[in-house]
Formats: sequence, C-alpha cells, structure tokens
Amino acid sequence: MKIEYKLGRVHCAGCAQSLEEILSSTDGISNVSLDFISSNLVVESNSLGKKELSDLIEKTIHKFDRNITISDPHKEEKLEKKDKIKNIINYSIIALTAVMLVLLNVISFHHSASLILFIVCYALISYNVLLSAFFNIIHGKMLDETFLMSIASIGAFVIGEYTEAVAVMLLYNIGEILQNRAVKKSEKEIKSIKKLKATFANLVLDNTEMQVTLDKVTVGDTISIKHGEKVPLDGKIISGNAYLSTAAITGESAEQFVKAGDDILSGSIVTSGNILVEVTSNEQNSTVTRIIELVEKASLNKSKTEKFIAKFAKWYTPIVVALAGIIAFVVPIFSLYQDFALWAYRALLFLVVSCPCALVISVPLSFFAGIGASARHGIMIKGANFMEALWNTDTFIFDKTGTLSEGNFSVKNIVSIDKEKSEDEILELIAYAENFSNHRIAKSIVKEYNKRTQKDINIAWIEGAKEIPGEGIVACIFGIDSIVGNAKLLKENGVSFNEIDSPHTIIYLAENGKLTGYVEIEDKIKSGAKDALLALKKLGIKQISMFTGDNEKTAKYVAENVGLDCYHAGLLPEDKVNKLKEHQKGGNLAFVGDGINDAPILSTVDVGIAMGGIGSDIAIESSDIVLMDDNLSRLPLAVSIAKRTKAIVYENIIFSIGIKLLVLVLSVLGLANMWLAVFADVGVTLIAILNSIRVLFVNKKYKQKLDKRQK
Ligand code: ADP
Ligand code: MG
Repeated sequence: MKIEYKLGRVHCAGCAQSLEEILSSTDGISNVSLDFISSNLVVESNSLGKKELSDLIEKTIHKFDRNITISDPHKEEKLEKKDKIKNIINYSIIALTAVMLVLLNVISFHHSASLILFIVCYALISYNVLLSAFFNIIHGKMLDETFLMSIASIGAFVIGEYTEAVAVMLLYNIGEILQNRAVKKSEKEIKSIKKLKATFANLVLDNTEMQVTLDKVTVGDTISIKHGEKVPLDGKIISGNAYLSTAAITGESAEQFVKAGDDILSGSIVTSGNILVEVTSNEQNSTVTRIIELVEKASLNKSKTEKFIAKFAKWYTPIVVALAGIIAFVVPIFSLYQDFALWAYRALLFLVVSCPCALVISVPLSFFAGIGASARHGIMIKGANFMEALWNTDTFIFDKTGTLSEGNFSVKNIVSIDKEKSEDEILELIAYAENFSNHRIAKSIVKEYNKRTQKDINIAWIEGAKEIPGEGIVACIFGIDSIVGNAKLLKENGVSFNEIDSPHTIIYLAENGKLTGYVEIEDKIKSGAKDALLALKKLGIKQISMFTGDNEKTAKYVAENVGLDCYHAGLLPEDKVNKLKEHQKGGNLAFVGDGINDAPILSTVDVGIAMGGIGSDIAIESSDIVLMDDNLSRLPLAVSIAKRTKAIVYENIIFSIGIKLLVLVLSVLGLANMWLAVFADVGVTLIAILNSIRVLFVNKKYKQKLDKRQK
C-alpha cells in the first residue's frame, strides 16, 4: 500500500527532516519520503490498509505539528485559497507593526504608554510564532526555529531592548514570506514541465469527433490533433502531415516534419498542420507522464551533500544553543564587568544565528533547480545523488552502436561464398534470423530485406531462435541450422573460416556448420559526436574511451574519427562490466549507452547514461540519467549544469556558514546587534535561496553555443 500526500505549512526543511524520521520509525510504516520543496509525502506500508494508514499518518503528523495541512495532491486548490487569505492577514500585520515601530522610535511617548504600545506590537507580530513554539515544545521539539526566535525576542524584551524584540519578529516574518515565495516560484519554474501534458484529446469515433479527457482514450483509438495543440498521447500518424516541436521533451530546438507512418511522442506540440493519429499508449505510460514522474521523483533521491547538511544541522543548533547558555550564565560570573544584561544580549544574538535554515533549504533547492534545468534540455536526472555523482565524474565510457554511431545500418555489400546460393538467398536467411532480434543491426537488415524483395518474413519457417547478446542469433530456418552474427559467435560454434578484413561491421552466416556468406553493413558516426567529446574534455573530463562488441577494425575507425583516448573491441556485455575496473581513475565513471545490450554496465557504473531513452524501457530502468534524444551535445550540457550546481551548492555552504560564524564572533566581541543577527539568519537564507534559483538560468548561453556548433 502506497499513498501520496501534499503537505502544507511545513515550516522549515529541518522540520520536514524530523517529521520524516518520526514517520519512518512509526510502527506499520515501511517506507517514507518527504520532500520539503515540493511538500510531497510518499508513505508505504506492508501491513496497513488505505484507511488505517491515512488515519495513522494524520495522527502522527498532527501530533508533530497541528498546523500542518494534509491533502490529496490532486486537491490543492482549496488549500491555495486558504493560504491567500492567510497571506493578506499576514501582510497587514507586518505593515501595521512596521509603521508602529517607526512611530514609537520617532515620537517620544510617555514611558508606560510606549511600553504598552510595544507590547501590543510584539503580540501582534509574534503570536503565530509563539503559538507554534509552544505547541512544538509540548510535542518535545525544543530547538526548532520558532522556539529560538521566541526565546531571543522575549529575552530582548526582558532586558529592555523593545525595538529589537519587535524587529527580530518583524524581520523573521518578512523573511518567512519571502522564503516561501522564492521556494514556490522555483518549484513552479521547475515543474513547468507539467504543462506539457495535454488535458484533453479529440477522439474520433465513427467519423465524429469529440473532446474527451485522456483517461477515456485507449490504445488503438484514433485521435485528431490540430495545429497549436499538444500531442496528448504517444501514437502513430495515420494521415496528414505536420511540423512538430519536441523542444520541451527532448531539448531539440529544430522543428521536425512528420507524415503518415511516423511515430510521435506525447508532450510535443503541433506547430502547423493537422493529423489523425492511432494511439499507442494510454495516459499512465505515455512519454510525457513518464517524464513528469521522473522529475517529480528525482528530489526523493538525496545526495550525500544533502545528507551531510541534515546531519550538520542536527548538531549545529544544539551546540550554538549550549554556547549561548554558557555566554549568558557562565561568562558573566568570570568576567570583570559582571554585566548580566550585556552577556544575556550577546547570548540572544547567538540564538538568533543558530538556525541552520539557510543550508537546509538552499542545498536541496540547488539540486532541485539543477535537475529542473536539465529536464528543460531533455536531460532527465533521476536524483540529486546522480547529479552529485556526475559533477565528480572524470572518465566517460561510450558504447559504440547507437551511441557514438547512428545505429541505422545500411547494407553495403552481400557476399555469397556458397556458389549455389544467390546473394538474395543469403540476405533472406540472415533476415529471417534477425527478425527475432531487437538489435539495431537486426532491424536494419530486416528492413533492407523487406525493401529489396517486397516480401515479409514468414515466421512459420523459424524454429528455436536464440539470441546471444553481443554476438548474434542461432536458429533453425527452413530446416537449416543457421548461425548469424559476428566472428566470435561462429568460432564458438566450431565454424572454421577466415575473418573478413573490413572497417565495417560484418554479419556472418553459417549453415549447418559451414560459412556460406556474409553481409557488410555500414553505420555512420553521429555528426555531433566529435564536438561533444571535445566539449567534455574542455569541461575537465580526463579520459574518454569506448567499449564495443564490434570488431577491432570498426572500433579503431570510430575511435580515430571522434577522437577517443582509448577503446576496447570485441567485448560481450559482461566483459564490459569487468573492463570497468581498469578505467577507475579515482573520480567517478560514467557510461553512455543506448540501452541495447548495455543494461548490466549501465547499472554498475557510478553514472549510467542512456541515450534516446524514450523508446527503450530497459534503458530508463537501469540508467541514472536519460537523454531524451540521441543528441550527444546534451552530455556536455549535463556536465556543465552539474558543475554549476556544484559551484552554487558550495557557494551557499561557504557563504552561510561563513556569515554565521562571523556574526557569532562579532557577538562575543560585542560588535554585533540584533539587526545583524537577524540578517545572518533570515537574510542569509534568502540570499542562498535566490542563489540556488540561479542554477535554472545559467546554462541558456552555453546551450546556444553548443547548438550553433552542431549546425
Ligand atoms: P556495441 O557494444 O557496439 O553497442 P553490441 O554489444 O550491441 O555492440 O553488439 C556487438 C556485436 O555483436 C555487433 O557488432 C554484432 O557483430 C554482434 N551482434 C549483436 N547482436 C547481433 C544480432 N542481433 N545480429 C547479428 N549480430 C549481432
Ligand atoms: Mg549498443
């Protein structure tokens, strides 16, 4: 049983963290993931039913904080309305308090009158925070932000610093509002990908057309898509033609011309033309739904840095609070002046600075923004941990077929060694065997056969076909024991022959243990491959190599043409995994493959990157990053976004900790005041958040540069 909720009013990332821990240690709950930024809570249970589980969750959450709202992610609107009203009240209180504070400091009131006014001001601006703090203490949550702010401001009040007491709360409130806005805005920005999903489809039934919601459409239905509309579900064009923009899902900026027979993906937009389409996916497994899911789930995979920050936050607050206690009660006893109020004030400054919110919010937000920025360019990163792994990567290994090369093989040459057989007969046997395989080589050969002979494959003639990954096919065709594949496969099966010397891929055919012919097939190197590898080098990748199952000659040809540091040919899928160890250089290792025959290695390396992931489910499953089209220029882009994210994460960590330490030192020396302390808390948080959002925008120029070079 798995349920998803949207939480409202979780105050800080630290609270989210503690709540997550409490929930996961609750009996009956097996798996919990709470993401502060999107406020999504996913809870799994093996033993409880839906009703029991949701009751338990509600009880636990409200015991933790009665203010948190829980709702179905699909019913967010009501909550938004309530929030709007609450915001208006908050703004008015802030404005009123600010005006009163100024007046109180400008006009000289009678002492007791001014005290009463200060108390009113304070009560007005802080009742919410004080109330939260009170309830948190009841639930055993001592050191959260509201508690610290309450103690600090009450303390300031007690020692007679009225203006500062009110100011602390005022700034805290303003800071909270700005923070929420910034986080919400970035969330919206990142999730703009959600807008790709169409809300309706034009279903065509008996020559009439009607608008229906997507859940009413099933595989095999016919829909019509008009210019300006989004493609609602994946499908195949039956008639008509159109220009399609896939920019939003694949990052490809050039428009694509599509006609009858072409496959199109949901999430693209028909920019001109009208088409009739046969639907090939339902709503749940359409491309656009899968992309949205990937992006949403991404923030649940936490990086080491985020985990470290969470640990740090756990220790940092109690330490600073303990120091504050020492400063308030111990230092004055030993100090010469014995000025209790003075040291109490300094201790209060400590309390204000002691909230690690800047880090706890901004670090996950930077990752989230990095993942969002990548998604906009057709790069799906499945978690913050993979983003982190990518920025530490110094070695890239590529698969050849379909990755560095296009994977569209053209048959260059058909050779019959058996005098009694024509070339067409050789091709026929090979095509019959290949009909069984999903390999790119196989598909190209079958296509060539269909084209040349205008005949389809009759599967009745094929018996016991078996594919050996990275080698070829063994089958009984027309009653002949046939082996179709590379030299290795034939040798393993005891066929003796001389290998053909060619830079192209050779697919041999052996009948009843004797070589009877072969086809020579050619694959083109991808046009942007060389530039992409060069760009990777410029970004600091130390070594780029290729692992291929193809023959030495072909491998060498490709290596020389795209500028690889080294290559290994003739590798089986499992050999590729073993070879990895030789390449471990200290940094992380990334493998880029097309998903055919590379699932084992994709799931072994630090960062598995699958090309053209849309079509292949295994690739999506076993990789960590999916490039939505076959364009290699996405790779340097992904690395550059990761490096940018890293820079910004580190900037935020150094900046927030630095300023906080500085203010702590200044407070001890008596050189800081409340204003500075509040800045070190709320101000720093805000700046760190704004800095995180920068990740979303920095790569526009870089992408333009790459695109230009491609053309
Ligand atoms: P790469 O590592 O270049 O992507 P693969 O591991 O997918 O290559 O395949 C390696 C080699 O195995 C191919 O070059 C081809 O010679 C042979 N091979 C693999 N699958 C097939 C197949 N279905 N039919 C014929 N040959 C195949
Ligand atoms: Mg391959």
